[in-house]
Amino acid sequence: MKNTILIILFGISILYGQKESENNWLTKFEKSNFLETSKYDETIKYFQRLADYSDFAELKTIGLSPQGRELKCLIVSKNKFFTPTAAKQHNNKVTILINNGIHSGEIEGKDASMLLLREILVTKTKESLLDNVVLLVIPVFNLDGHERFSKYNRINQNGPKEMGWRVTAQNFNLNRDFAKADTPEMKSLLKLYSKWLPDIFIDTHTTDGADYQYTITYGITSHQEVPPQTRSLVNKELIPFFEHKVKQAGYLIMPYVGFINGDYKNGIRDWVSTPRFSHCYAGAQNRIGILIETHMLKPYKDRVFATKAMLESIIEYSNKNYKKIIDCSTNADRYTIQKYSTEHKPYPLKIDITNKSKKFLYKGIKYKLVYSNITGSKIRKFTDEKYSIEVPYFNETKIVDSVYLPKAYIIPQEWKALVDILLLHGIKFNKPEEKKKYIVEKYKFKNVHFPPNSYESHFIPQYDFEKIIDTVEVNKGDYYIPTKQRSLGMIAYLLEPKSIESFVKWGLMNIIFERKEYFEDYSMEPIAERMYKKNKFLRKEFNNLVKNDSAFASNPKRRLNYFYERSPYYDKKYNVYPILRVIK
Ligand SMILES: [Zn+2]
Repeated sequence: MKNTILIILFGISILYGQKESENNWLTKFEKSNFLETSKYDETIKYFQRLADYSDFAELKTIGLSPQGRELKCLIVSKNKFFTPTAAKQHNNKVTILINNGIHSGEIEGKDASMLLLREILVTKTKESLLDNVVLLVIPVFNLDGHERFSKYNRINQNGPKEMGWRVTAQNFNLNRDFAKADTPEMKSLLKLYSKWLPDIFIDTHTTDGADYQYTITYGITSHQEVPPQTRSLVNKELIPFFEHKVKQAGYLIMPYVGFINGDYKNGIRDWVSTPRFSHCYAGAQNRIGILIETHMLKPYKDRVFATKAMLESIIEYSNKNYKKIIDCSTNADRYTIQKYSTEHKPYPLKIDITNKSKKFLYKGIKYKLVYSNITGSKIRKFTDEKYSIEVPYFNETKIVDSVYLPKAYIIPQEWKALVDILLLHGIKFNKPEEKKKYIVEKYKFKNVHFPPNSYESHFIPQYDFEKIIDTVEVNKGDYYIPTKQRSLGMIAYLLEPKSIESFVKWGLMNIIFERKEYFEDYSMEPIAERMYKKNKFLRKEFNNLVKNDSAFASNPKRRLNYFYERSPYYDKKYNVYPILRVIK
């Protein structure tokens, strides 16, 4: 009889899902006394179980890894807004995307997400966080890297016992791939991103570097990479809120900074980078981006719970202030179009710190310099001794390079592969129905050099370039990309050669720097002779060169080439950027 009652009671509690015990939902991290993390299958099983258990969650496959693993995203919504269309129709929810395991050895975000999702969806102690928020959680982004499981993957890191590898099966660093989108993983993520356009994008990591007292650090879009309204909300509200909450949870937190000249005594500095990085990518999409970096020497348990506190505090702030955040996103898009398209102000491509600083109480850990027989020099050995010191903190920034956007860009149809990448970023374009003439600016490159080594599989060219005005006829089927659109920042980053994120700078267009046609001396010489006789300006310039430039004068090939380059036989497309800037 007693048993029957118990069974009935148990049944009721399951039915209403109110009293589901945490014990039935322990993760590998908890079961291992906080020392281990689950592998892919076990992780996905847990996420699937969350989705099966709760009406508020759906687990979706958003792509495949190069080794054929399914890339998953858990969508969590109290109103069951499981598609971006549904969520956007009811434009009163903040969307937060949490990306874990982009460097899959740095995996506390995955374990933290599992615990937090359980509290939201199963034990429901934190269900109210969902009142005004839709959550998108990627359990592990670099799946193949995650399954390259070993205890030898992170030499500087204090746990978990075994973990994944930094890069993908193809050896790509996904946190350099946001703009150029080489990898299948990134293509899948960008599709998700551009459909949902999350108000906040969080990317979780573990840092390397010196020892200090802080368990967790963060980078955030808080400078000129986002519009003033967003900047103000981030600096005045969001940062103080999560710093306070994480401290309250028992973890020291500070911004993710660099030491000036490698030593904190010279001061610490903030940094603003370009959209190859996750949080900077969000900035270029007019949204808030947050990088979480826990400190690798702190115990894994602390790192997971600090990450959890951070995630929770960001969701809590967003839930409370959903109207403000949605307003920021809407206005950021409007502001971007108004300022950089309508008012034609230059778009910032490079932001750096100024020499102004404020005081910062830095909490470090002392080290001794100890002689090493191996290195033959002194090396750092960190002690247990803590110290606090006031150091200059450089976090005021200025725009150091920018570009005026044209009315539109034209990409010839033979460069469709580039347009496919624009599409991933949510950039809109159209295709002219018939031939049309435009006045355009063209870039012509010179002094092109290549480095001896590749970077992320690309040979990054160095070059100078000049602008030429021309009238061109654009063919039916070419791509016309108007700049009056919300994603104009990504257009500028990808299409302007001075941007380090541009297709041409990433080496995706190196073929334009290759010369494909050559002359024989005996064919060119009579033509050169005729040009020399006929054109007095040319003759004068050539004679001057012969007189004043001995290297030129003594090089028969260069002398002939001088005429070849000025003849109709010369390749007009050589070193010319095929992407055009439309003025009229
Ligand atoms: Zn990382």
